[in-house]
Amino acid sequence: MKIMPNRMDRGFYKYQKEFEQKALDVLRSGWYVLGNEVSSFEDEFAKYVGTKYSVGLASGLDALWLAFRILGIGKGDEVLVQGNAYIACVMGITINGATPIFVEPNEHFGIDADKLEEKITDKTKAILVVHLYGMASNMEKIVSICKRHNLKLVEDCAQSHGACYNGKMTGTFGDIGCFSFYPSKNLGAFGDGGAIVTNNEEIAKDFKIYRNYGSEKRYYNKVVGTNSRLDEIQAGLLRVRLNHLDELNEERKQIADRYTKEIKNPKILLPALENNTTCVWHQYVIRCEERDRLIEYLNNKEIGTIIHYPIPPHLSEAYSYLGIKEGSLPITEHLAKTVLSIPMYNGMTKEEQDYVISALNNF
Ligand SMILES: *Cc1c(COP(=O)(O)O)cnc(C)c1O
Repeated sequence: MKIMPNRMDRGFYKYQKEFEQKALDVLRSGWYVLGNEVSSFEDEFAKYVGTKYSVGLASGLDALWLAFRILGIGKGDEVLVQGNAYIACVMGITINGATPIFVEPNEHFGIDADKLEEKITDKTKAILVVHLYGMASNMEKIVSICKRHNLKLVEDCAQSHGACYNGKMTGTFGDIGCFSFYPSKNLGAFGDGGAIVTNNEEIAKDFKIYRNYGSEKRYYNKVVGTNSRLDEIQAGLLRVRLNHLDELNEERKQIADRYTKEIKNPKILLPALENNTTCVWHQYVIRCEERDRLIEYLNNKEIGTIIHYPIPPHLSEAYSYLGIKEGSLPITEHLAKTVLSIPMYNGMTKEEQDYVISALNNF
């Protein structure tokens, strides 16, 4: 049996009729950028997450870099971020000229709140929390540290649509929550897309200005903005998927619950949730000291896997200019050598799950 690490086709066919009808409706409407679909999606998404405002954008990276731009964070400023973040999180900081300060993650792949304060200097302006793999971070300590030190709080929810801490959704704890709708995300579009959520009216207004060349009124440009508009067709298709997001997340949870219950191998460490958090299982990430041998073994059984991520940002060529040496973030670096994402996608059959579980148990 051949099993891919992820597949988007099953998630499409599950609601094929609805997606196709919506695509046709938008094509026939004659209106393709910033129209009813985008504003309706923004209203529905804000309501889903539990914030006053949402603004649709062209990608998750745009959500991140515009967030720091709008918060006024740039050259000479420092932003704390976990070492095991995705590279886009770091680019969201550095595109503005600000400096990322890496903090080691905890046992749950989230930023270690107990290691934040030792990194705060008078240049620190913000904390970027990444709810990695779909796991909500423990926000209580982080929010109080931000208050105590007067720091902005940005959440990267590109992998955590619908995940909660203490019953409150990720994206609602800080100044701005940033989302990506890249096709593989839990709430995926059929191309690129992104959004922010916020309770701050001024911030929401600024995103609407920045995403459209810095203009509030057409051809009257207040700031040097960008082109980061969510397409009508993507917004329409996202509205369809958003209607089903809870059941899609529930389906992933059932697969994850089976993995957690049935994978039994002393060589394999399973992911564990922190108290009061939920996970939407964007990835199911195991750890294995013999990871590279495990990948080869699974490959021979035609089970595909992905490493999220093999090179931590501080060791990537792009960030060699930061001059951070190998060995300076041992927990992060060890994770990069041992993590492995096993197959996890909507529409994964029982037989496919059985096959993955038994392969892992026989390793
Ligand atoms: C996907 C992702 C992004 C970037 O989103 P794009 O829409 O691809 O620009 C940022 N952060 C995290 C954690 C992601 O998973």
